Amino acid sequence: MTQQTQAAPFNGSDFSHGATKVVRGLQDAGFTAYVVGGAVRDLLLGQRPKDFDVATNATPEQIRQCFRNARIIGRRFQIVHVRSGGEIIEVTTFRGNHAAAQAGQHSKASESGRLLRDNVYGTLEEDALRRDLTINALYYDTSSNTLIDQLNGAADIEARMIRVIGVPEERYREDPVRMLRVLRFSARLQFDLAADTETAIASTRLMLGDIPSARLFDEWLKLFMNGFSAPTFTLLKHHDLIALLMGDNIGEALHEEQSASLQMRAMRNTDQRVADRRPVTPAFLLAALYWPAVEQLALRLEEGGEPTTQAIHSAGQQVVHNACQHLTIPKRFSLAMRDIWDLQPRLERMQPKKITDLLARRWFRAAFDLRLLREEAGNLGSQCSDFWTAQQKEHPDLVGSARPRRDDQPKRRRRPRGNVRAP
Ligand code: ATP
Ligand code: MG
Repeated sequence: MTQQTQAAPFNGSDFSHGATKVVRGLQDAGFTAYVVGGAVRDLLLGQRPKDFDVATNATPEQIRQCFRNARIIGRRFQIVHVRSGGEIIEVTTFRGNHAAAQAGQHSKASESGRLLRDNVYGTLEEDALRRDLTINALYYDTSSNTLIDQLNGAADIEARMIRVIGVPEERYREDPVRMLRVLRFSARLQFDLAADTETAIASTRLMLGDIPSARLFDEWLKLFMNGFSAPTFTLLKHHDLIALLMGDNIGEALHEEQSASLQMRAMRNTDQRVADRRPVTPAFLLAALYWPAVEQLALRLEEGGEPTTQAIHSAGQQVVHNACQHLTIPKRFSLAMRDIWDLQPRLERMQPKKITDLLARRWFRAAFDLRLLREEAGNLGSQCSDFWTAQQKEHPDLVGSARPRRDDQPKRRRRPRGNVRAP
């Protein structure tokens, strides 16, 4: 393999202050260090990187010693977070080849070949081969303004091509999350998939079921909350990965076309909000994506004699339970989802006595937005949303004004002693 070094088509000032400082800090201590991964890719595409990763031949412990604000995190894959100004730079030690490594505490694989631990260190050449995609294996030296491109990543960027490094099936077996990453980058960058990068998914897709649900939820957030949820969903569906990621009941619905339309509208809305830099919450999108399943199950319960509000409530509980077999949805989101669902039949009733109470509910606005989407997707007519639009105009200060319940709040880490916060 030849190491291709070339002058980079951008300059150091395109890079974050923090990343440049971290690279320089490591180089001053005698190590080699490069900005790597998404930031280099995005700059070559003329886009603004959202974060910066650095790769080095220093070990995590050596990295930590180079900086005042550095913390080693992770176990399966140790990395160091270096805080610089408001930024966090992720610094990783060059990964090496597992086959060549002595077995032991640094490398561990499951029976199916999934890597449970990846802390075998190596050279830059080996590190590049351990990365997921050619377009993510570009190294940039901020001091000399040079780019190292051993796997023709720049050519693939030019050709707008997602290509897994090595044999895709083996790489997916080592880490099935790479299949999700491939589709995420393809949707976000509008790049094509190289032939074997795509075909290998069919033979390894079931391995996604082995991924811990907490890691799958982290990945779900990247897939759905980064502004490209609609095209990503379409790709996931095409490759039959939705049920493996979110559970069977996501596609289960009474009126399939209407449900798909509701889900697509919710994703397009979320994507638009991200593009407009407006706030988004996973709770709303999750509530919309799983609503068809809730509706379906509630109908069955109603047929068994449960009143509507009770049926929606029980169905919501069951749907969240099933979803959590795949994704660890944090409680603050699942409670919100259930409030959004519980509010659906209540909004529909338009009871004058309940108006102020419902308007004040913390998740009223999200519940109203879901109602709007349901009306648009399901030809429900707009009587209900017109009613609540008028009420919101009449009582603008009331909307969402109820104090959040205690268990809606994310759990705060306990602060170190001596740091007393005002209530
Ligand atoms: P983003 O813009 O979403 O941050 P990124 O390419 O920087 O994209 P990260 O998740 O930040 O993605 O990962 C940083 C780099 O680490 C990637 O560019 C890739 O080289 C490598 N990487 C991340 N996850 C994996 C994985 N599962 N297998 C192999 N390499 C990976
Ligand atoms: Mg990144």
